[in-house]
Amino acid sequence: MNSFHEIAFSKPHIPSITLGEIDKVLNSGWITTGPKSKEFEQSFCKLINAKNGVAVCSCTAALHLAYSVSGFRPGDEVIVPSFTFCSTINMLIHLGVKPIFCDILEESLCLDPIDVESKITRLTKAIVVVHFAGRPASMKEITRIAKKNKLIVIEDAAHAFLTKYKGKYIGDSNNICCFSFYATKNLTTAEGGMVTSRNKSLSDKMRLLSMHGISKHAWNRYSKTGTWKYEVLMPGYKYNLTDIQAVIGVEQLKVALESRKKRLVLVDRYLQQLSPNNNLILPTNPNEKGSEHSWHLFTIRLKKSAKVKRDQLIEEMKNRGIGTSVHFIPNHLQKFYQKTYTKGLKLPVTEKVYKSILSLPLYEDLSILEVDHIASIVNDLV
Ligand SMILES: *Cc1c(COP(=O)(O)O)cnc(C)c1O
Repeated sequence: MNSFHEIAFSKPHIPSITLGEIDKVLNSGWITTGPKSKEFEQSFCKLINAKNGVAVCSCTAALHLAYSVSGFRPGDEVIVPSFTFCSTINMLIHLGVKPIFCDILEESLCLDPIDVESKITRLTKAIVVVHFAGRPASMKEITRIAKKNKLIVIEDAAHAFLTKYKGKYIGDSNNICCFSFYATKNLTTAEGGMVTSRNKSLSDKMRLLSMHGISKHAWNRYSKTGTWKYEVLMPGYKYNLTDIQAVIGVEQLKVALESRKKRLVLVDRYLQQLSPNNNLILPTNPNEKGSEHSWHLFTIRLKKSAKVKRDQLIEEMKNRGIGTSVHFIPNHLQKFYQKTYTKGLKLPVTEKVYKSILSLPLYEDLSILEVDHIASIVNDLV
């Protein structure tokens, strides 16, 4: 493989049958939320054993709906990891809720239960967990803390499609879970999301809010049994997923377990090629019995002994045609949150991890040869 061979950081896998299916939707006379969105919700829930799923236009929308039905009032506090995408936090701010930024554990890069417990006040209403990179957070400890303090738990499962915690898929729990189908995620509809809940009335309310608070979906209105009459029951949003997007999801779900197997082979190869390198900290599988990593991201961390710094490594890899990314720039260090919430806040593990972490390409259409190529470049540079 020559040095000009370009490898993108991320690439979606679209089964070829999808094109024909999109064509059918386009020619059906109904291209927005309709039968394909329903089918997507049902197939998604069936696969991960979730009870009720509402398909929406993004995980950000899913989070907004989840927070909206959780009874937060302006001035309430909600605990979040700083080490996440800003969407987890911004949707709280829109509801007048104060985000309380917490540190993570070195091993899982998910919320540190001890730091969470230390930040609970009489204003705290909920804990939002993020299953970083697809590795499950310490749900047993978080759930215990939540029960003890009468807090809600909401799961940002943007990385956690097919993540398992103690034998159950993320989404198969009592918590509201928010999934992302953004272009780089393990399951993608270009843009899209799903919010799952065991609680039918909460789920119905989120569905209502996803469509302006209108009592019937447009689809029902225009179907044979529908009626032109509708009622606005509450001021909602416009968060529905189109059938053009949903059909992409439906086709991907059919091959999701095979895709996962391919991912696992690539992860094993990365681990095999990179583990002799003493200057790297490699990601690990969860240690609870029955827990499984979804491997949305494959992140490496540089030890102090490494020959390069992280930023330099990104540049060197770019020069060799290899795309990488950093997940995440800690939010407590971002300009807006600094100004408003986090001045002087120190989260030692988050800050240390941020300085040394890098995400390598990982997707179903990556070949073993490409993984070997990437790993050998990393080994040379580090
Ligand atoms: C991608 C991502 C989101 C947002 O997902 P969208 O579908 O783009 O809104 C939220 N949280 C985390 C942790 C993410 O990685």
